[in-house]
Amino acid sequence: MPLSAGRAAAGPRTLYRLSVSTVVEFRGSFRLVETDGQRLRRGRGVWYDRCGELAQTEHNNPRCDTCARGGSCGMDCTLSRLVCPRCGATA
Ligand SMILES: [Zn+2]
Ligand SMILES: [Zn+2]
Repeated sequence: MPLSAGRAAAGPRTLYRLSVSTVVEFRGSFRLVETDGQRLRRGRGVWYDRCGELAQTEHNNPRCDTCARGGSCGMDCTLSRLVCPRCGATA
């Protein structure tokens, strides 16, 4: 009897699709990294600080014209603040 059916409970992030990561935007010492898988799902990628820590984000800016019309500009345009919990950098 195969046991592979129970893998769905492993969590939201699985490793099998971790292929190419692309830096799509810079802001201060932070960079927005997007994997191919996230691009396909219209995900926003993940912000990392220069020190390698995952940044905390706030999205309080209004969407740009493209996004407000239902499109996607490809940038994290609603991002208003970035904070690194490790070294305290902000942007
Ligand atoms: Zn936008
Ligand atoms: Zn940092």
